This record gives sequence, C-alpha cells and structure tokens, in this order.
Amino acid sequence: MTARCQRGPGGGTPPGGHNDGVRNGGVSFWWQQVGLPTPTDRLDGDVTCDVAIVGAGLTGLWTAYYLHEADPTLDIRLVEAEFAGFGASGRNGGWLSSELPGSPRAYAAAAGEAGLESMRTAVRGSVHEVMAVAEGEGIDADIRLSGVLHVARSQAQAERLDGELSAAQVAERIRVAGAVSGHVDPDCARVHPAKLVGGVARAVRARGVRIHEGTRALRIEPGAVVTDRGTVRAPTVLRCLEGFTAGLPGHRREWLPMNSAIIATAPLTDAQWAEIGWAGEELLGDEAHAYCYAQRTADGRIAMGGRGIPYRFGSRTDVDGRTQNWTVESLRSTLTSLFPSLAGITIDHAWCGVLGVPRDWSASVCFDPATGLGHAGGYVGSGLTATNLAGRTLRDLVLGAPTDLTALPWTGHDVRRWEPEPLRWAGVHTLYRLYRAADRREDAGLLRTSRIARIANRVAGR
Ligand SMILES: Cc1cc2nc3c(=O)[nH]c(=O)nc-3n(C[C@H](O)[C@H](O)[C@H](O)COP(=O)(O)OP(=O)(O)OC[C@H]3O[C@@H](n4cnc5c(N)ncnc54)[C@H](O)[C@@H]3O)c2cc1C
Repeated sequence: MTARCQRGPGGGTPPGGHNDGVRNGGVSFWWQQVGLPTPTDRLDGDVTCDVAIVGAGLTGLWTAYYLHEADPTLDIRLVEAEFAGFGASGRNGGWLSSELPGSPRAYAAAAGEAGLESMRTAVRGSVHEVMAVAEGEGIDADIRLSGVLHVARSQAQAERLDGELSAAQVAERIRVAGAVSGHVDPDCARVHPAKLVGGVARAVRARGVRIHEGTRALRIEPGAVVTDRGTVRAPTVLRCLEGFTAGLPGHRREWLPMNSAIIATAPLTDAQWAEIGWAGEELLGDEAHAYCYAQRTADGRIAMGGRGIPYRFGSRTDVDGRTQNWTVESLRSTLTSLFPSLAGITIDHAWCGVLGVPRDWSASVCFDPATGLGHAGGYVGSGLTATNLAGRTLRDLVLGAPTDLTALPWTGHDVRRWEPEPLRWAGVHTLYRLYRAADRREDAGLLRTSRIARIANRVAGR
C-alpha cells in the first residue's frame, strides 16, 4: 500500500495552481488520520470454510459479525483485495443517516406502501443499532447523534424539501448563505468512517473470523472464490463489493461505479465557527440535484463532498482515492458559496471513492439457497446505515429463517443491467450535465423543480 498512497502530482494542475498543498488521494483523509493499515493474513493456498465473503467493507464485515453472533461455530472468511475499509466504507462523508438506500417508488412498487414503511422503519432503527454495537464493542468512531440539517437554497429546492424551518430558523443553526428553508432529521449521526470500519473489522477478527487482506478475488462461482492467492471453497459465497462489483468477470454492467469526492479543510478557528454560526455537530446538506454533504469533524474541520467526475469509462475505479484537480476546485467553490467568509480557507486533503448504483437506483439483498450465492449493495450513496441492515438481512437469508428483515422490499430485488459502453458513459455524463443545467436554472430563480431534472430522472430510471 505504501507506494500507492504517497502524494502524487495531483492530476494536472499546473505548478502554482490552486491545489498546491492539498494532499490528494492516499485513500482518504480519514485513513491518513488514523494511519493506513498494512494488509495482514493474506491467503496462502486453498482453504475450505462455511461462509466465504468477498469484500471487507461494512457490508461484508457486518454480515460476518452477525453471522458469527448467530452461530459462533461457523468458519467465516473474508477475502479483501487491499485492507478492510479500503473502499467507500473508509472514505465516505460519515452520515450515518436514515435515508432510504433507494427509490421509495421502486420499493413501494415491490411491496406496497406498508412494505415501504417497514423499510423506512428498519433503516431508521439501523442508525441506532450501529451506535449500540459501536458502544458495546468499544468502537470510538467520534459518533454523535446530532441530526442532519437539510437546507434549500432556491425556491425550487424549497419546494422539493418542504422543510419546517424558515430561513431565519436555519440561520439559528448554521448560517448558510442563500438558505430559503430547512428540514432537520434527528435520526442521523456524524461518524469518523475509518474509525468505524476499522473498529468493526477488529470486533470481527476478535471473534476468530479471518480477514484475508491483500487477496483479490478473480472470480466467484457456486461453492468457490478463486483468488490470486488460492481458492476459498465454501457452500455459501457472498459478494459484498458495492462500487467494485464491475471489476469481477460477469458483473461489469450490474452496478455502476459512481464517483463521489470529498475535501477536508484545515481546522477552523473559533472565530470562523462563530462567523458561520455552526455551533452544534449536525450534518449539513443541500437539495441541489448535484447535491453536497458536509460534516463538522471531531477535530474541527469541515469535510464536504459532492460529485466530481460522476463515472469513468468502462466502469473503472480510482487507484488510491486520487481525484481530479477541477473536482477539488469545484468542491472548494461550493464550500465558499455556502460560507463566503471561508473564502481562502486551506484545503488539507481531497479524495474520492466509488459507490454502487443499480439501474433503478435501489439497493438489494439477495441469496439463492440453491447455489449458495448471495450479494448485497447498490446503496447509491446511502450505504453507511444500510450496510448494517444488509448484514443482518444476509444473516437471516443464509441461516434460512424467514424474518421481518427478509420480508423487506429490497430482499431479492431484481434489477436490469446497465447499457453497454459507450452508451453507459455517454448516458451518465449527459445525465449529470442535465442535472447541473437544472441546478443553474433553479438557482436563477425557477420556482419549481426544473423540467430538465424531471426528464433526467425519467431517463435515469429513478
Ligand atoms: C466519497 C463517498 C462518500 C459517501 N458518503 C456517504 C455518507 O455520508 N453516508 C452514507 O450512508 N453513505 C455514503 N457513501 C456510500 C457508502 O460509503 C457505501 O455505500 C458503503 O460504504 C458501501 O460499503 P460496502 O462494504 O458495500 O462497499 P466498500 O466499502 O466499497 O467495500 C468493498 C470492498 O471490496 C474490496 N474489493 C474490491 N474488489 C475486490 C476483489 N476483486 N476481491 C476482493 N476484494 C475486493 C474493496 O477493497 C473494498 O474494501 C459514500 C460513498 C463515497 C464513495
């Protein structure tokens, strides 16, 4: 890892450009802060076990955690190409939120209004489940149940948000420039992603589950995971790769690896916090189509993310979290548009990662007892909480006991594949051009959601 994670040239900004001094990549600021792990326990030849899990992000780790809890006699092994938490689970924005990992319309179509409501309740409950396990396992991940403030910054955004807070009430919480209205969801916690995923990995290992890091799955088949270091044979094989799924043969068009990028500022001074009026630790997001999401970190920075290049041709993923310089500039300008008084603030770090987007933008958890193959993911940017729910659902599916969780509408949810290239690349880039155009029109004074965005949503299949 070390060689891959050193600071590189930064992807093209000329010397003296705005991004000099911004550390770019290195997996994520979160991992740099706690120290990049060195992969351990590489697979050494062929092995046999009861359950093989591919991918040691939160989906794989939570699944292992709950399976072991339900049946400690199970021999469970994870196969991880880099180290536990290398992917989105160690790079995200730290919103442990109650947002649905998918389109309400798709879930209602699958299971009716009652099914949709049970999904909402289950996701909301999972926020508290993660917090309870973290406390029980002694995982200190800077978790604060501080809620999230959604802010509308145009009339069209306000119409979509339908928030209960006036502009003045928003300003009492955080002084966001141009805020028109706001909405608070109390069931959302701020977390430090690397501390959380690292803590869950520790808890899983402490129970005797093996995580074979530095071991890349080359192919999955019923009863086996073929890796670059040997084959893991198991009657149950679970694919938990989210945004990396397209890298496996046969899965290229399943979930689109969508990019998201984040910047972390230098710590703000007390005067700067006072100026922007962000006294609490609530998370903050806007309602733009190309939305942003932010947190006040435990060490007093703002970490703010949004879409950079949405998608790389051929479903490629980044190497070590390095993002384009124009993405850093674009996030910097979003930050200073929210908080003009922070113009000129130092950006310490920028990085990106991939999340998995299914063709209908709705996550699924699936298991076929006949083949022993299962998978979970496609959370479309709302995976931090959903991975926990998916892990508990996969546990029940694997153990073969129908439960309230296995009855949720995302269980067995089948989705058609994405279009082949170059259609996929052209389609996604066009979509995001449309969303940006819709944002510009709404910012210019539209009173309702732009028709361009409605068309884009229809084309996207959302
Ligand atoms: C920048 C960013 C910000 C986000 N912010 C939020 C947020 O604030 N709130 C929220 O709810 N969600 C957020 N998300 C989404 C959320 O982080 C993910 O949905 C979630 O972490 C997915 O977890 P996972 O375990 O399924 O996948 P990952 O964490 O991506 O894990 C997959 C693992 O598989 C490994 N792997 C890949 N290929 C192979 C292979 N061939 N063999 C073996 N292992 C392999 C990878 O190294 C990785 O460790 C964000 C995502 C990104 C990228």
